Amino acid sequence: MKKIAGVDIGGTKIRIGIISESGEVLADLTMPTKIPLYPYLEEQLLRIKKEFPDLTGIGIGTRGMVDAATGIITFEKELEGWQGTAVKSQLEAATGLRVEVNNDANCAALAEVQLGSAKGFRRVACLTVGTGLGGGFVFDGQIMNGSNGGAGEVGHMILYPNGLLCGCGRKGCSEQYVSGSALRRLIQEENVIEPETGELVMPQNLFRLAGTGAAKAITVRDRFLLDFATVISSIQAVLDMDCVVIGGGVSDSADDWWDLLLEKVEPLKLKPFEMKRAVFGNEAGMLGAAMLLID
Ligand SMILES: [Zn+2]
Repeated sequence: MKKIAGVDIGGTKIRIGIISESGEVLADLTMPTKIPLYPYLEEQLLRIKKEFPDLTGIGIGTRGMVDAATGIITFEKELEGWQGTAVKSQLEAATGLRVEVNNDANCAALAEVQLGSAKGFRRVACLTVGTGLGGGFVFDGQIMNGSNGGAGEVGHMILYPNGLLCGCGRKGCSEQYVSGSALRRLIQEENVIEPETGELVMPQNLFRLAGTGAAKAITVRDRFLLDFATVISSIQAVLDMDCVVIGGGVSDSADDWWDLLLEKVEPLKLKPFEMKRAVFGNEAGMLGAAMLLID
């Protein structure tokens, strides 16, 4: 049985799974992200290799943009010194194992396609609605990387020209309207109050509150879901996928909004496609990272 280390590198945590070919998690380790990241990562992986001498490869999913062919981080501002690191070649030299590197959202998409809700679909767009809005596209089993590792950045499709300023420096990006942070902003703007506490409603409770008929909560919900549906529709116009998978923190409350989203997407479809809820949560990154090694 092949054993692969699947590594998910986030801004605060690194999660490493020892994963079998079939996606079984044999061990699951979490450690804080430390700067400078590269020497620390190498040290951790050498230690893990000693513990699991039968490892056959290492897959890495990281924040930022990655040149998947060379395994070099092409863009990352938060993790100081990480941009420009030749992760693949350095780690291969250090460990003697095959190493593949890709973006974390792409890895999450790959996990859903190989092991999760999009199994059997050939053209899949995976959207992660967490603090921000991320995406990954997997066509015929291959991650679409783009020429700079920047494909799938659905959060930076412009939804409202000259709209809200985005972290990327442009205005009106969809992430400013479809994300956990956007939901928080809309709740503040509409002053949506949780009747039990008298405080602003928590984003994860907004949709439940709307379900009880609270007018302001309904306003926020409907605006959010229409923007979300519009993003999905635009992606289809470009990609003609057969399946859209939706995951991320905001989808934890999907029981309260899923059917309404489907209703809003339906009239915006150019061709039929399936919509699925992601099977994996936080483990998607490390699982998909490991799947980078499965050809
Ligand atoms: Zn942007």
